[in-house]
Amino acid sequence: MAALPGGMTRRRAVWLLLSRRPRLIVPRRARPLLTPLAVAAAAVAVVLAVFVLVDIPLNVFVLGAVALIAAGASVIGGAGARQGESDVHLLRRDTHADLYALVADVARELRLQPPRRVMAWASPDARATRGFLRTELWLGLPLLAVLDEEELRAVVAHELVLERLSRPWPTGGLLTLYWTEVSRAEAGAEPLGELGPLVDSLMLQADQAGVRVAGSEATTSALSKGLLVANGFTWFMLRYARDLVTERFFPSDLYAGWRWKLQHDDLAERMWPGLVRADAGDERPGASMSRRVAALGGVLTIPRPPERVLFTALPGEVEERFTRQALSRYLPKRYVLSRKTRYGDVPDGAWDRHHERERDEVLAAAAALLGKDVADPLDAVEIVVAGRAPELEWNHAFSFCAHPGREVCVLFPLIHCALRASGHDYGHPLRQRELRAPTGEVVDVTGLAVRFLDGGSAKDDFRALLTSL
Ligand SMILES: [Zn+2]
Repeated sequence: MAALPGGMTRRRAVWLLLSRRPRLIVPRRARPLLTPLAVAAAAVAVVLAVFVLVDIPLNVFVLGAVALIAAGASVIGGAGARQGESDVHLLRRDTHADLYALVADVARELRLQPPRRVMAWASPDARATRGFLRTELWLGLPLLAVLDEEELRAVVAHELVLERLSRPWPTGGLLTLYWTEVSRAEAGAEPLGELGPLVDSLMLQADQAGVRVAGSEATTSALSKGLLVANGFTWFMLRYARDLVTERFFPSDLYAGWRWKLQHDDLAERMWPGLVRADAGDERPGASMSRRVAALGGVLTIPRPPERVLFTALPGEVEERFTRQALSRYLPKRYVLSRKTRYGDVPDGAWDRHHERERDEVLAAAAALLGKDVADPLDAVEIVVAGRAPELEWNHAFSFCAHPGREVCVLFPLIHCALRASGHDYGHPLRQRELRAPTGEVVDVTGLAVRFLDGGSAKDDFRALLTSL
C-alpha cells in the first residue's frame, strides 16, 4: 500500500479517523447523504415500532412512514441549503468574464478541470470545494479587494491543486480532521502533530503550483496578503462591529468600511510588525504563513496596495447579507431587532460605549492585579510604568491589535475617554485614534500614549493631561 503525502501509512490514517472522527471515513462526496439517511432510518424505526404496538391498517402506516421521511428530508435539506448558501454569492460568467478567463487559464496551465462556478465568499479566505456534481471556487470578498491579478492567479492555483490533492481517500478526511483540531487548539487542545508532514507536503505542492503559474514574487506577496487579510478582517470586526452589534446596531457597510481602512488608513503598515511577530511564533504546519513562504525559499513581505484588481465590491444587498453572516457569531442568540445603519450614521454614544467598556475593563484588571476593590486611571498607568502591562488581561483583540505595544493598549482607552469627557469630538468614524479638540486641533491618541511612554514620566504626563482638560 502506497503511503500518503508526508509518509503516513493508510492503516494509521484509517485508525486516526476512526478514533477521532468516524464521520470523516465516509468520502467527502457521500457525506451530505449521511444525515438524510439517518433521518430516514429513524423514521422507519418509529413507524415500525408504532405498527407493532398499535393495531392500525398497514396502508395508513406505509403512507405515514413515507410522509415522515419526506418531511424530515426536506426540512434538513432546506436548512442545509440555507446554511450553505447564505455566505456565498455566484459571480455570473457574463458579468465576470475576466475572472472566469483567469481561472480557466490557471486550470489549463496546471492541466486541471476549471471549476464550474466561481463564488464570492463572506470569509477572508479562499477554497475550492467539490460537491456531488460540481467543483466550485470560493473567493473571499475581503481578500479579493487587495489582490493584483498575478496574486489572484497564485491563490487560484493553490486552491485548485489543494482540492485535487485532497480528493483521493482518505487524504481529504485527514485534512479536515487537522483543521478541526487546529481550530480547537485555540481553546487549548493540541493539534495532531503526526499530521504535520502531510499538511506541510500538501501546502508546499499547492504553493509551488502558485509559483508555476504566477512566479515566486506574486505567490509570496499573495501569502503575505493572506496573513494580513485573515487577521486584519477579524480585527476589524472585533474593533468596529462587535460592540455595535451588542448595542443593537447593524453596520450594513462592514465590507466597504474594511476596504476604506485598508486603502486610506495605513492599516497594513500599522498591523504588519505585530502580525509577523505572532506568525513567527506559530508552530502549526499550514497555519503559519512565514513557514509556508520559507518552504518556497522566500520571506514575508509587507503587503503593497494592488495596482489592478479584477473587482472589489458586490451589490449592496449582497454585501449586507455577507455582513449578517460575518457578524452572526456576535449577534444575540435570541432574535433581537437591530437598527440597520451605516458607519457614517452611528451615533457618537455607541462608539463611546466601546471605549468606556475597554477603560472599565482595564481598571477592573488593574484593581484585581493590585488587590484593591477599585482602581483609578493613575493606578493603571503606574502598573504600565512598572513594566507589568502584560499582566493585565481584558476583552481586547491583543493577538491582532494594531497598537504598537501592550502599554499603548492600556493607555489608549484611558486617554481616549478623558479627552471625550472634556469635549473632544470624533473625526472620521473609522479612524478613532484621532479626536478633534474644541480648538479644532487634531489629537492623535495613540501618538500621545507613545509620547507619554517614551518620555519616561507617563504618570506625570497623564496627570498633567487630566488637569489641563
Ligand atoms: Zn491594543
